[in-house]
Amino acid sequence: MKTFAAFHDRSTLDLPIHEVLARAVEGESLTPGDGYRLIRSSASELPALMLAASQLRDRGKGQTVTYSRKVFIPLTNLCRDKCGYCTFAKAPNHPEAHTMTPDEVLAVARAGQAQGCKEALFSLGEKPEELHARARADLRRLGYSSTVSYLAAMCDLVYRETGLLPHANCGVLTRDELIELREVNASMGLMLESISERLLQRGQAHYGCPGKAPALRLETMETAGELGIAFTTGILIGIGETLEERVDSLFAIRDLQARCGNIQEVIIQNFRVKFDIRMRDHREPSPLDMLRTIAVARLILGPDQNVQAPPNLAPDIYQMYLFAGINDWGGISPVTKDHINPERAWPMIQELYTVTAEAGFALRERLCIYAEYLARPEFVRDRFRDRIASLVDEQGIVRQEETRW
Ligand code: SF4
Repeated sequence: MKTFAAFHDRSTLDLPIHEVLARAVEGESLTPGDGYRLIRSSASELPALMLAASQLRDRGKGQTVTYSRKVFIPLTNLCRDKCGYCTFAKAPNHPEAHTMTPDEVLAVARAGQAQGCKEALFSLGEKPEELHARARADLRRLGYSSTVSYLAAMCDLVYRETGLLPHANCGVLTRDELIELREVNASMGLMLESISERLLQRGQAHYGCPGKAPALRLETMETAGELGIAFTTGILIGIGETLEERVDSLFAIRDLQARCGNIQEVIIQNFRVKFDIRMRDHREPSPLDMLRTIAVARLILGPDQNVQAPPNLAPDIYQMYLFAGINDWGGISPVTKDHINPERAWPMIQELYTVTAEAGFALRERLCIYAEYLARPEFVRDRFRDRIASLVDEQGIVRQEETRW
């Protein structure tokens, strides 16, 4: 794995912030030292930081902000990992522990189809059969030997029966597993979350999580790049990382994109505290911290990267994200709750439209695979081509007549 020693040059910490921002707006590639300076910007420097990020976003993305109309299919909530902030994963003996049957999967997908959804987001625990006999028994009963094989079959089923484009988010994967999923997914996702290996230590957020080793996550996305799979990734902020580690994570993603070219979107997600998690006494990132991090992400990642922040995790201030440099709201479901943050309902799509318009932007629906990647044949599987062509306009986003508010 690449070391990040070079990232600890802090010689620019004393730089006037306007000098760093001017270089960023000029299109100069920032250094980690620049990033460390920006992430430590004061409250009084925040408006200038956000303005520069907005200018960069406008240059790359114009005034269009996108979202994906999706259904959320939580295929299994059993998981081999034990993240300190997770309420999604359940112990095998928990009354809510469940692996969905094909009929249950199809029922959710059909509900989404009826509501005009285009994306089936499969989100699930990572390789639970490695740890839990219950998961192995569930898979045996369903006729599969691995969660990945069952997932591939369900992606295929949903696409054949409903035309929803599958986008699987299922943790780290081997090359063979990526090849299996590649044929049945229009795009895929894996949050880097953090480049910090320190978070794997006892007492930290990722203790007991073999799948959260950052090197493995980078390797999965790098292999996906070789296989022509468009990937969504991102960082989760406020889980115990230092501000410098947060910046290092953004640079790791920028480097990954420079090497592999398959990172279609970067999510900036804020940790939210819940009463039933290991990290229940942990402090949440403040709204200002979130705005600062979004702006720094835009300035590091440049004008062309798609930058997203979830609106349902900051219902009072999410409109402000538009002034910090985002150009996407992520997947929004008119049908299913957010199973990862079930207490945080998504805004209605009509509300999102209004909020976005009030800020001076046009909201448009996109597919799970971004327009930039639709334009590159190596990223589009043959089986999806006709379906995708029937949904998008010449810009590669969903035709207005296919869109419902
Ligand atoms: S956050 Fe994901 S990987 Fe971590 S325990 Fe929950 S389901 Fe598993």
